[in-house]
Amino acid sequence: MSGMQWLEITVAAPMEAAEAIAEVLSRYAPHGVALDYGPVPTDEADWERPLLPRDTLTILAYLPLTEGWEEARQRIEEGLWHLSQILPFPPPRFQVIAEEEWAEAWKAHYDVLRVGPFVIRPTWREAELQPGELLIELDPGMAFGTGTHPTTRLCLLALAEWLQAGERILDLGTGSGILAIAAARRGASRVWALDIDPVAVRVARENVQRNGVADRVAVAQGSLEEALGRGEQFDGILVNILAPVIQRFCEQGMSALLRPGGWVIVSGFLCGEQEASVREAMEAAGLQVCGRWMEADWVALGARP
Ligand code: SAH
Repeated sequence: MSGMQWLEITVAAPMEAAEAIAEVLSRYAPHGVALDYGPVPTDEADWERPLLPRDTLTILAYLPLTEGWEEARQRIEEGLWHLSQILPFPPPRFQVIAEEEWAEAWKAHYDVLRVGPFVIRPTWREAELQPGELLIELDPGMAFGTGTHPTTRLCLLALAEWLQAGERILDLGTGSGILAIAAARRGASRVWALDIDPVAVRVARENVQRNGVADRVAVAQGSLEEALGRGEQFDGILVNILAPVIQRFCEQGMSALLRPGGWVIVSGFLCGEQEASVREAMEAAGLQVCGRWMEADWVALGARP
C-alpha cells in the first residue's frame, strides 16, 4: 500500500460545456476524465422512453500529488476560468484524497456496463456473461469511449440493430475503439477504425488486441480523407463525433463510401437545432434518415442512401 495522494477535481457544469472542460482536465489527468451523468438506466424499458434531459453533469479528474502538481492545478484553474467566460459554470472543487479513496472513486465511475447485447468490462472488473451476451474489454485510458457517454451507448444499440454478420464497417473517430470492437463482436467481417488523435489510435489498438479481434479490426490514424483515398466501399459507417464534423463529412462525400443498400449511423449531437442541422446535411448528401435512437437529449440517427 502506498501513501500516495491525489487531488480530486470536481466540476459541475451544463452538458454543452462538459466536453470542453473534460478536454482541459485531461491534459493533466493521467487516467483520463470521468463524466458522471447520474445513474445509468439498467432496465430495458428505460431505453424506450425518452429520459428527462439533465441540465448538469459532474466532471471528475484526479491529479497525482507528485512534483509539479501545484503548477498543474494552477493551469487547470486558468483553463477552466477562461472557458467559464464563454460557457458559464461554477469554479471547480479541489480535494486531496488518499490512494485507496482514489481507487474506489475512480473505479466507481467505470463499472461493468450492459448496453443491448454488449457487456463492457473495464479491465480491472469482473463480469459474468449470460448466453448471447457479447463482451467488450476496455481500458479507456485517455481516449473517449467507455460506454459512460450516452452517444456511445446509442451507437452500440443502433449497431446491434442494424449490423448484419459479414459486413464491412468503417468507424470514423474510433476513440477507445469501443464501436469497432462491438462491430467485430457482432460479426462484422472487417472493420476499419480511424481517429485523428494519435492517443486514441494507440489506445484503440491496445483494446483491439486485448479483445482478440485484431484479425478483423485495423486501426489507423486518419479521417474521412484517408477513407475516401482508399477507393473502397463499406456496408456500414459509424460516426460518433460532433454535429459540425458530421455535416462536413456529408459535404465531403461520405455517402460515396457506402455500397448501395449500405447504412450510416451518426451520433454526438443533441436533439433540437443540432439534430436538425445533421438531418439536413445527410439529406443533402442523398441519405434517407430512417432510424433514430435517443437518450437524455442526445441523439443517434441512422440513414441509408
Ligand atoms: N467512437 C467512440 C469515440 C467517440 S469520441 C465512441 O463512440 O465512444 C470522438 C472521437 O473522434 C475522438 O476520439 C476524436 O479524436 C475523434 N475525432 C474528432 N474529429 C475527428 C475527425 N475529423 N476525424 C476523425 N476522428 C475525429
